[in-house]
Amino acid sequence: MSHENNLRVKPVLGFDIGGTQIKAAVVAAEGKILTAHRIPTPSSLTEFCNAMKQLIQNLHLPESGISGVGIGCKGIISPATTEVLALPGGLHYLEGRRLNELITPLLEAPYPFAADNDARVALEGERRWGAARGRENVLMLTLGTGVGGAILVDGKILRGAGGAAGHAGHLTVESDGVECICGNRGCLETAFSARAIESAAFAAIHRGVATELHNLTARPPTCADVFECARRGDVVARDIVQHAILLLGGAVAGLVHVLDPEIVILGGQIAESGELLFSMIQRELDWRTKTLLRRSVPVVKSELADPSGVLGAAALAFDAVASPPK
Ligand SMILES: [Zn+2]
Repeated sequence: MSHENNLRVKPVLGFDIGGTQIKAAVVAAEGKILTAHRIPTPSSLTEFCNAMKQLIQNLHLPESGISGVGIGCKGIISPATTEVLALPGGLHYLEGRRLNELITPLLEAPYPFAADNDARVALEGERRWGAARGRENVLMLTLGTGVGGAILVDGKILRGAGGAAGHAGHLTVESDGVECICGNRGCLETAFSARAIESAAFAAIHRGVATELHNLTARPPTCADVFECARRGDVVARDIVQHAILLLGGAVAGLVHVLDPEIVILGGQIAESGELLFSMIQRELDWRTKTLLRRSVPVVKSELADPSGVLGAAALAFDAVASPPK
């Protein structure tokens, strides 16, 4: 879209529906966030509708109006109908619901509306304004409470036969590992996610081993605390981080062998933990893939700052405005 067109397109409303928070923002055509707000994720459908109404009021939509709405949501979302097809975990109550039917009545008028899986939406944002600009083959992982994934192959974001493609968090990394919310065992997100790293830290404290993790003000330690203790040289925290990154590195190397991407983008809260993660994962990926690939695939941080989910949702909305569904 040309700069001149950018000036004519009204802003859009973007939502990122996650397991712990729902974020929303009004975003201008050049990717600038005009207003943003967030709420804790409600635990029932009634609370969800009330909270979304409040969230939209708090955003103070521009008087000149908006041009479209985009939503990134955990789980499997039908882009054709915006129906939530599968969503295990705390947001289970959204299964079988169409997001546009829940949100449109809360707005002044119906607008072009688009929704998709949150990681796929984050990759849409990176394609429009971030690290995937001009790329044709990209693997993106969102490292947060769980692990999300999205894959760009030959310029197309992969959907698969039933819309589930890209769920890299449920790649099996330990065949006899612990149960995962998806029903499988030993998924990547049971080994590398904020929850998994926090569980490992709690277990170390419970065993009573000597570690700085005992001395934190926050109880139990957060994933960011564990990374910070590891960076400061705490052996126990470093072991937890190294083990998690070993499993993540192995999984990413496998995916890189399968997909042959130009770059790997890491987003989500754990990607904010700093250089330690990126240097360790790059080393792990390089030795595992250099023989077959004959090059180093750069592992880069998502360029769209938090809340990147809402920017991705806005990118999706701008696509819907430019080519509304027939
Ligand atoms: Zn799983």
